[in-house]
Amino acid sequence: MTKTERTYLDWNATAPLLPAARDAFVAALDMVGNPSSVHGEGRALRMLVEAARRDVAVLVNAAPANVIFTSGATEAANLVLTPNYRMGRTPLAIGHLYASEIEHPAIREGGRFARENVTTIPVTRAGVVDFDALETLLHNHDEATGLPMVAVMLANNETGIVQPVKAVAEIVRRHGGLLVVDAVQAVGRVPVDIEALDADFLILTSHKLGGPKGAGALVSRGEVLMPVPLIRGGGQEKGHRSGTENPAALAGFGAAARSATEEPAARNSRIAGLRDALEKGMRAATNDVVIHGAEVERVANTSFFSLPGLKSETGQIAFDLEGIALSAGSACSSGKVGQSHVLTAMGFDAALGGLRVSLGPGSTEADVERFLAAFSRVVSRRRAA
Ligand code: PLP
Repeated sequence: MTKTERTYLDWNATAPLLPAARDAFVAALDMVGNPSSVHGEGRALRMLVEAARRDVAVLVNAAPANVIFTSGATEAANLVLTPNYRMGRTPLAIGHLYASEIEHPAIREGGRFARENVTTIPVTRAGVVDFDALETLLHNHDEATGLPMVAVMLANNETGIVQPVKAVAEIVRRHGGLLVVDAVQAVGRVPVDIEALDADFLILTSHKLGGPKGAGALVSRGEVLMPVPLIRGGGQEKGHRSGTENPAALAGFGAAARSATEEPAARNSRIAGLRDALEKGMRAATNDVVIHGAEVERVANTSFFSLPGLKSETGQIAFDLEGIALSAGSACSSGKVGQSHVLTAMGFDAALGGLRVSLGPGSTEADVERFLAAFSRVVSRRRAA
């Protein structure tokens, strides 16, 4: 391997742009007009945006009319996580947000809820939402403040652990609450069906699917109960999110969504094979590697591990120097590696942190081999130290 050759194993941070998404993006960039204009140029762009809306809707079995495009998952989260809703024209209060401890910061920060109106739902040591704790929280919810809202992600970005959202929905329904599901890391990896999950809202982002960055969606079940808009102005997206749409990014998002619906079972079983080979190789190289979440259902592409004696920050740099791009699981925007709140929530001594390998449709056996060769060197250096 030459010095410049790189192996990209950080698909959960962002997936490489798919050729189809790039083509759709570039083609749309060259189109003149505003999708809200009534002339031919505007209508052509409107058609593009609406085609993307249909593609995203198909991905999660929603009605296209229930897809609100945003700039990404973070914006979708800030749109949906608010105490202020409308049932038709009637204001409706959401009293409190209950968000699982392992949510991405986009959700954990609580959107437009005041801090004191956000409570975390603990997870078990296996990294799965604690049903009893959720029951108790909802049982004690003060209905006088408004409805309870629950946010539980479908697949965790660090561990890949799949949350039993359908069972969560049953608890939420029993208590008359609303359920918001961050499906960012789940789409294309496990079936995501807003009806089957019985979620009220799904949060999506384009770039984890191989679409361009800066596009996402909030998907609802219907428009009866909707959040008060976060961005007000010209009334685009039926008033739910004003501002001229970004047709290029949305066309790319649509292309990526289409690609994610193509033969997901075959794609994911190949990726699972690579991930299993990678984990087998790590275990063969050292018997003290801890693989988080290996005993519960995970998406096929993610492996989150800790190596005693290796800090995640040091490990990340060591792999980077080996030509391997992986992640420490949680990196804040400054690029500084923070402690994994997911490992802390799972009761693991998070001081060392973990390292996350995440694969995708473009990953190969050669990627796994290069990773394992680097892993052996990193492990032996750690021992030598
Ligand atoms: N939710 C999850 C689970 C994520 O992994 C991410 C991105 O890392 C987000 C939300 C936020 O997505 P975006 O940065 O596109 O807004």
